[in-house]
Amino acid sequence: MLILDGSYGEGGGQILRTSLTLSMITGEPFRIERIRAKRRKPGLLRQHLTAVRAAARIANARVKGDEPGSTALTFEPGVITAGDYDIAIGTAGSTTLVFQTVLPALLRADAPSRLKLSGGTHNPSAPTFDYLARAYLPLLHRMGASVEVKLHRPGFYPAGGGTWSATVQPSPLLEPLMLHEAGPVNARRITADVANLPFEIAEREAAIVTRMLSWPQSAAHARDVGADGHGNVLAIEIVQANITEIFTGFGSRDLSAEAVADATAREARAYIAASVPVGPHLADQLLLPLALAGTGSFVTVAPTMHTRTNIEVIEKFLPLSFSVDEIGSGRWRIALAE
Ligand code: ATP
Repeated sequence: MLILDGSYGEGGGQILRTSLTLSMITGEPFRIERIRAKRRKPGLLRQHLTAVRAAARIANARVKGDEPGSTALTFEPGVITAGDYDIAIGTAGSTTLVFQTVLPALLRADAPSRLKLSGGTHNPSAPTFDYLARAYLPLLHRMGASVEVKLHRPGFYPAGGGTWSATVQPSPLLEPLMLHEAGPVNARRITADVANLPFEIAEREAAIVTRMLSWPQSAAHARDVGADGHGNVLAIEIVQANITEIFTGFGSRDLSAEAVADATAREARAYIAASVPVGPHLADQLLLPLALAGTGSFVTVAPTMHTRTNIEVIEKFLPLSFSVDEIGSGRWRIALAE
């Protein structure tokens, strides 16, 4: 049994989720202690608990320690079973993070699976549904995976209530991903959404980003979306030949629309200036697909602590080793040698 220290590196939920994914796939049981030790509220929150329970159902695992707030967990996986799964977080916790945890195992199942997810769909510090659907999954599709997702209703913090569904076809062997250039820009979109908040918040955000990025007004879309409770999400999407990147900001009570727009536009500008295909968040999310393919490489910005920590966890479960090299000022190459 592998023993993991949840306080290592980033010390957040990703150490647990990556361990669940790889344990399901390899059949290797693990125990993790000091779960999320570096977070303000350590231990299992609803989102992590839902990931553990979903993984346990899908992999017929024996689990100890799956209680709210628990800081230690033992997970002993059995056989992966395809099927229809209803995954409800019960709070506004991120459904996309739970989905990313179980997706690799479902790709390795011997029949299609259908998932219904409910909870948060657009959460700070997690991939939004749109990020999953338009930035992350298209790269998995390129690697040979067949996954369809459909948003029914967005869910924002704190009300939650978002719902979406996914169909996963078995694709046991992923092809390597080589992503060294973004390619020409095919489309640029700014989407500012509000739910149960004044529409002019979305209009102001869209106008500021349009001006800061010097993009045409036709790229900007302000929308009123139906959701439980309040919500405001701003997304800057850059569709390039080889990759789509999305930069997301969230409104909150103590942040002006101007501050949300300014911070999000700066993130997009930094990405554009770096001239790399893979942004900081996709970099840590692509490590697992790369590891499952067994080889591949991509060019990105300086690796975050999330990326470095995820590499360490993957290397504990699988007999492979990533190289992380600076290849130019602010340009890094992350590779998995064959
Ligand atoms: P905690 O650390 O509190 O447990 P968590 O469970 O949400 O939080 P993290 O370890 O922080 O987990 O991982 C968050 C994941 O969400 C990472 O894969 C990160 O790349 C991704 N992410 C964070 N912000 C964004 C964003 N703006 N766009 C896309 N992905 C994001």
